[in-house]
Order: sequence, then structure tokens, then C-alpha cells
Amino acid sequence: MKAMTPLEELRHSASHVLAAAVLRLYPEAKLDIGPPTENGFYYDFDLEHKFTQEDLEKIEATMREVIKENQRFERIETSREEAEKLIRERGQEAYKLGRLEDIPEGDTVSFYRNGEFVDLCAGTHVNYTKKIKAFKLLSVAGAYHRGDEKNKQLQRIYGTAFPTKQELEDYLERLEEARKRDHRKLGRELKLFHIDEAVGQGLILWTPAGAILRQELQTFIASELRKQGYEQVFTPHIGKLGLYRTSGHFPYYKESQFSPIVDHEALESLAHEGCSCAELSNRLDEGKIDGYLLKPMNCPMHIKIFDSQPRSYRDLPVRLAEFGTVYRWEQSGELNGMTRVRGFTQDDAHLFCTEDQLGAEIQGCLELVKTVFTTLGMKDYRVRVGLRDPDSSKYTGEPALWDRAEAALREAVKTLGVDYAEEPGEAAFYGPKIDFVVKDVIGREWQLGTVQVDYNLPRRFGLSYVGADNKDHVPVIIHRAPFGSMERFTGVLIEHFAGNFPVWLAPEQVRLLPITDDQLPFAEELERTLKAAGIRCAIDRHSDKFGAKVRRAELDKIPHMFVLGKKEVETGKITLRSRVNKAAEGQHSVDEAVALLTEQIRNRTLPDGFSG
Ligand SMILES: [Zn+2]
Ligand SMILES: [Zn+2]
Repeated sequence: MKAMTPLEELRHSASHVLAAAVLRLYPEAKLDIGPPTENGFYYDFDLEHKFTQEDLEKIEATMREVIKENQRFERIETSREEAEKLIRERGQEAYKLGRLEDIPEGDTVSFYRNGEFVDLCAGTHVNYTKKIKAFKLLSVAGAYHRGDEKNKQLQRIYGTAFPTKQELEDYLERLEEARKRDHRKLGRELKLFHIDEAVGQGLILWTPAGAILRQELQTFIASELRKQGYEQVFTPHIGKLGLYRTSGHFPYYKESQFSPIVDHEALESLAHEGCSCAELSNRLDEGKIDGYLLKPMNCPMHIKIFDSQPRSYRDLPVRLAEFGTVYRWEQSGELNGMTRVRGFTQDDAHLFCTEDQLGAEIQGCLELVKTVFTTLGMKDYRVRVGLRDPDSSKYTGEPALWDRAEAALREAVKTLGVDYAEEPGEAAFYGPKIDFVVKDVIGREWQLGTVQVDYNLPRRFGLSYVGADNKDHVPVIIHRAPFGSMERFTGVLIEHFAGNFPVWLAPEQVRLLPITDDQLPFAEELERTLKAAGIRCAIDRHSDKFGAKVRRAELDKIPHMFVLGKKEVETGKITLRSRVNKAAEGQHSVDEAVALLTEQIRNRTLPDGFSG
């Protein structure tokens, strides 16, 4: 068993104190387990009474008593028989006997005691309860015993503990900030996307506001791709199973795909034969009947486009890009807002190049990532370089090719000038890769997409080009979707900006606020002018107080407000209030205001606090 770090020891000790406090308040509670976690600890209880938020406060108060008593944590080693006796004496046989059985034969059985509380536990713990200086109970949630839906659902109390009060406060502040930024909450409030049971879990409906956000992002990424010589393609959402057999995506990854689609005629004749479902599944796997697959990957279709005409070395590299929608089967428990879904659109592209071109192409991918991250104010990101495990023989492709590809990746990452880590053994069997992890403003890390070298698919599909030597050669493929998917990237961006998007991304860029209905005609004229200039705006036509209109625009996180009062109508000027760029505030003529906004949109100006 791995030794606990001092922080884990502290948190695990807090979980024992939690269980001790619960038993003082609810002696009938049955205990399961209470390990430390990445950010704190929990303990699982079986209890008729349902814990409430008020109960958590009561339990915290009792925990403070236990801590004040400064009980010593004492290790007691026993035989299995003694352990069973001890568990029964304490009336905790419901779960603890099963946990005792989990301890491998021959291993030491131990308990930890503090005060009147005794728990089956391998350890380790701090020496006295007073060491627990800063803790907090956070929430209670249902949790199945051993994580299995077939077992009884227990009540899990989550908490956290830190060495100092300051660290605890900082953590709670970050937690609160994360709650405010949650893309599922903001997505609903700002009407950016919708998930509807009737459509299906994990399938995103982009509402009009969210569609603008996505369109702007795609336009931006596509324009950068064009600068780098990419060509845009479109491919269908389904393709024949045989295609994915050739690529190796079926049946090997069928657990993570939607089931194949079989046409009516085939189904009917199979039914006629009396073919069972299991048999149908086997025949599909074995390729005895064909069908279609909702595409889990775009690569095979891009490969077919590359292979649709003869290629010479002069044509390479061929860079095919598509915002390509793919479908993967995720367990419903894994689904999460926009960041874990079942249908998503990758910022996908496949580069077909020669060995010699590999380095420059990877470098191009990294430059694109840098440009996009910089434009979005994502200053803090790191790169992981997945290399092969030198002791394994599972890799496809010549070792010499791998050496060159790995060197090319390393070289490209170095020129990027960001933190990177080499991770031996993290390469796919078909080639080394790079992936990107961004840190947001509150310090959370988000894994985005990858750049992946591939020596396997070109061979599986028999791709070739004619070299300068007039002979056939096999190209290398680079798969790259550096931002992952539009869904995930948008979810991350919502949290990154906390919904306060830069002007170019904001679904509504300006809200016109007439102080009274008298200024409506002026507002309408202004609206026409702004729309003609390509600026997205709307008039607040509510007849409530001006303060309420400002408040509404703030809640809707509109970057700029134009205040239109009597004075503004007389002078023909507007008063600009801004949520994102304080320097832009003040009085402007209409022409000036339009010029200012147009410039911010064109330059993709970042909100205050993000620039740099
Ligand atoms: Zn323990
Ligand atoms: Zn691919």
C-alpha cells in the first residue's frame, strides 16, 4: 500500500474525526469507509436519518469538540478473529466485515483509535486530533456501497482540511469562484446551449446566442488555418462499417461507439432467417454483413479524399481540415454539460506529408495553438509530449522513424517557449503525440486536444505518393484537433471568461438603453446604424427604471451599454458604459462609437484583466 503524504494523513485523520462526531450524534450510524481524496476527504454512512446542511454544521461543531479533546491516534494490530470480534462488539459488522475480508491473507490487520472511536484502518494518521486546525464539511451526496448501483446507497459527507486556515480560505474561495463560473449554470443563464432529454443525453443544442459564439470561434480558427495552407472539406456523418474495419476503429472500439446501422432489407432477411440479436452482433463484428457507423472519427474519410487522386511529392503536404462532427458512446454517469458529450464537432485536420516535412508541420500546428491561446488570453498552458516506452515492442513503424518523429516533436515544442514535459510510454502504438493542458484564471487545468503522428493508418489504407526518385512512398499522417471539440472548448471558454466574453465573441455586443420611451426613436436609428456596421445589438424596450435596465444588461453580461438620455439625443452623442473595457467608457459621437467597437472586434481585444 502506498504511504500517505502528510496532507493525506491530515485529511484522513479529519475523516476519522468526522466519523467519531457522527457516531456521537447518531450512534446508530453504520460506517463504511473514509479515505482522503485529491481535494479533501469523505466518509460514507448508512443511516435512516437524511443529513441536511444544518446537520453538517452540528457535526462540524462536534468535530471541533473531538479536536479540542486532543485525542491521540493510536494504532492497534490484531488477529483476524480479534478484528471480527471488535467489529461485532461495536455493532459495525454491516460494512466493516466485508472491508476486513478485503485485506489480503497474510497482511497485517490494524485499527486506529482516537478517544472512544475505533476504526478498521491501515493508516496512517497524525499523532493528535489537535493537528487538524483548518477543516470544513462541504456537502452530502448519495454514493453506492463499493460504487455499485446494485448495492445500497449510502450517504457520503464530503469535507476538506488544510494545514493552515489561510490555505483553507483560499481553497473555499476558489471553490465558490468555480461554482459561479460553472458552464452549465452560465450556459443556462446566458441561454448559450440546451440539453433536452427528448433529444438525448450528451447531445448539445446550440441556441442562437451559443451558435454565434461557436460561429465566431470557427471563423477565427478557419481563417488561421487558411493562412497556414489548409484546405476545407466536408464529409458525411455516417460511413460504411467496412471503412472503419480497415481503419481498425471497428469492432475494437465498438464499446465507445453507437451501435451500427443496418439497412431495412438486410434486417428483414435476417429476421426471416430467425437470426438472433447476438448473432447479428457477431456477424457485424466479423464483417459477414455490412452496415453503417455513425462516424466516431473523421480520419478515414479524409484519407479517402487524399487517396481519390494520384499524389506526387510536389503535392505534399496536403492539409485537409474540417469541423467534423463525431459520435461516441459515453456512459451516462460520465456525461457533463458541454465538456463530456456523445456528439461533438472536432476542429479536426489531417496532414499528409513526407518524413522530411514532419518537423515543419508539427511546428505549424503548435504556432496555430499559440495564436489561438494568446488571442483568448490563455497565457498559462503546458504541453505534454507522449513518447514511446523504450522497453516495449508494441509500436508500429521503424524505430529509426520514431526517433526522428520524437526528435521533431521535441524540437517543435522547444521553439514554442512554454512548459513541456516528456512522458515516455504515453505515445499511441502508432506514433508519438503532443497534447495541451490549459490552466484557467482560478488555477484549474483543462485537457484540450492533441497533435498525433501516425505511421499506422497510411499503411492500413495503402496510401502512397510518387517521390522525386519516381518510386512509391508511404506518407505520414498527422491528426490534429488542438482544441479538442467546439463543445468542450466552448465550455472551457465560458468558465475561463466567466461568461464575460470579449466583444468579438459576445453574442450581443451592445445593449442600447433609452432612459425613457422618449429616446426610443433615437435608439432605433442607432440600432440600424450599428447593425449596418455589422455590430450585434439590441434595445432594452422595458419600461422600468434605468437602474433596472443597467442591472439586466449586467446580468446578461453584455460587454458594452450605450446610455441614451435627453442630453444624448440633443447632442447626438452616446454615453458608453462598459463591463469589459473601462478605457472605452465616456461620451462618444455615433461615428466614434462605431469605429471604437469595430476596432475592438477586428483586433479581438480582450476584456480588462486578460490582456497581455
Ligand atoms: Zn483511517
Ligand atoms: Zn484523425
